[in-house]
Amino acid sequence: MTATLLDGKAVAQQIRAELGARVANVIATLGRPPALAIVLVGDDPASEVYVRNKLKTAEEAGMGVHLERLPGNSSLAALLGVVDRFNKDSKFDGILVQSPLPKALGSSAEQKIFDAIDPGKDVDGFSPISAGRVVQNREGFAPCTPAGVIELLVRTKTPIEGRHAVVIGRSDIVGKPMAALLLHKHATVTICHSRTRDLPAMARTADILVAAIGRPAFVTREFVKPGAVVIDVGINSVTSADEAERIFAAYPERLTVFKKRGSVLVGDVHPEVAAVAGALTPVPGGVGPLTIAMLMANTVRAAELRSR
Ligand code: NAP
Repeated sequence: MTATLLDGKAVAQQIRAELGARVANVIATLGRPPALAIVLVGDDPASEVYVRNKLKTAEEAGMGVHLERLPGNSSLAALLGVVDRFNKDSKFDGILVQSPLPKALGSSAEQKIFDAIDPGKDVDGFSPISAGRVVQNREGFAPCTPAGVIELLVRTKTPIEGRHAVVIGRSDIVGKPMAALLLHKHATVTICHSRTRDLPAMARTADILVAAIGRPAFVTREFVKPGAVVIDVGINSVTSADEAERIFAAYPERLTVFKKRGSVLVGDVHPEVAAVAGALTPVPGGVGPLTIAMLMANTVRAAELRSR
């Protein structure tokens, strides 16, 4: 079997196209487009790329977007001050503080920031209020990555109801909300993590397997029931030639990318899984573009709620 590729890029494009009319409605009501404030602390190279993509996508969608940069040695108080300013600024509907924050801010800094963002502007869906709403299946902002996965499954007509979904990963931003959203679509859900016993056997019981682990090519064919739908949330940059050779030995085109750039993106799912799965999201071009599309959708929604 060769898995059908679930084209996240195409679905993301569809979602963004549908936002056009809603952006126009917001402009008609508020006299300005939906607007997002992005806060970037420091100069982490991966964050720079993510933020650039978000800015570009927002601009292409005709939305307002502002990037506020803070130096890497900023204090938590300074960052909270910026969040407070955007909370009060009625020109912005959404606030996003790019993760990860510099380690020097302390291990609880991200939580403090998520606590501080006005829940009405929490378009990343990371605040405890948003998390509670997701669990209770109420109107609100679901975290963009799991929300994007649900859009992908629904729009590709992948059956969810009654299926067994196994989510590997229990983070607050991906694993837990992913499990909740699948549950609301009537899947039977199992959450696995680093202490799960016999993970491959557990994963093999899945009709829908979601990998949100952060380990390159971790999910190999022994994790996958033949015909299962496999969603690869992982985005890992492999910079070691040995590792790239090991993962992509049978994929010369990906090794060419590595040789050209000195790095190559790989998901949490090994490419060999394509021979076993019924459907699979590619990396890149799978879940990543959906995450950004859902950020735009959440920002438009935030503006619509303000204009009601
Ligand atoms: P995270 O906070 O580091 O969580 C990773 C989860 O994986 C944890 O729950 C951890 O279990 C589990 N895990 C780690 N090693 C494991 C193992 N050997 N066996 C079983 N479970 C294991 O990561 P995250 O923020 O959820 O992100 C996960 C991945 O998704 C990363 O690659 C990240 O880059 C990617 N991501 C992609 C997007 C996108 O737009 N596509 C968005 C967000 C994240 P414990 O809880 O037991 O430690």
